[in-house]
Amino acid sequence: MAEVTLAGVRKSYSELEVIHGVDLRIADGEFVVIVGPSGCGKSTLLRMIAGLERISAGEIMIGERVVNEVEPGDRDIAMVFQNYALYPHMSVYDNMAYGLKIRGMSKAEIEARVNVAAETLQLGDYLQRKPRQLSGGQRQRVAMGRAIVRQPSVFLFDEPLSNLDAKLRVQMRIEIKRLHRTFGVTSVYVTHDQVEAMTLADRLVVMNSGVAEHVGTPMEVYERPATTFVAGFIGSPS
Ligand code: ADP
Ligand code: MG
Repeated sequence: MAEVTLAGVRKSYSELEVIHGVDLRIADGEFVVIVGPSGCGKSTLLRMIAGLERISAGEIMIGERVVNEVEPGDRDIAMVFQNYALYPHMSVYDNMAYGLKIRGMSKAEIEARVNVAAETLQLGDYLQRKPRQLSGGQRQRVAMGRAIVRQPSVFLFDEPLSNLDAKLRVQMRIEIKRLHRTFGVTSVYVTHDQVEAMTLADRLVVMNSGVAEHVGTPMEVYERPATTFVAGFIGSPS
């Protein structure tokens, strides 16, 4: 596990700045949700933590290490996207094992890790199936399994439930909560959905136009929103 620290993080595309200096300290094992309307910069911020986008200014640390110049594969993170792409020709087992195989891990260790993940995600009976033989929720679990088996220090989620129907979304929220309680991995979770944010977060980061307007527990944000934007977005009375 590791803490994640952002200090004065900025991002510009060409001349246009879209992230205007974000400071954030995420504790070891904490579940932080970045929430805000479409286009406010959530994915950009997450992709900078993942190393998929370079930062224009500031510093990102994972654990004790400044990772500004570190390649995504060396950051000890695993990311779950909205459009998780499973390998269609591979079994569930192989989908989860693949990332470990290419890292040269032993067969026994791979098997142990996949079995623990499959157990936790209730995929034990589906390991030999192909993705097309699974429901949407099961596929999403396989995508999470792939992240879990890597045993990263940090999980990054970018709207992982957006493509699922409402009922499944609620179910998967509970599942993600349970996973976090089981493994306790530091997590940064991006969503535009206020309810999802409020139910999942240890702490919320409410973003508006590239600025973190309020960082606090769901209760703090709800009861004492820092700005009128936050109040409006979270739907609290003041
Ligand atoms: P969100 O995930 O909150 O919907 P994004 O992080 O995707 O927001 O986008 C934040 C802002 O940055 C938007 O104005 C978007 O148009 C802009 N943006 C994102 N990616 C690029 C890019 N590759 N080139 C130029 N502008 C971008
Ligand atoms: Mg996005």
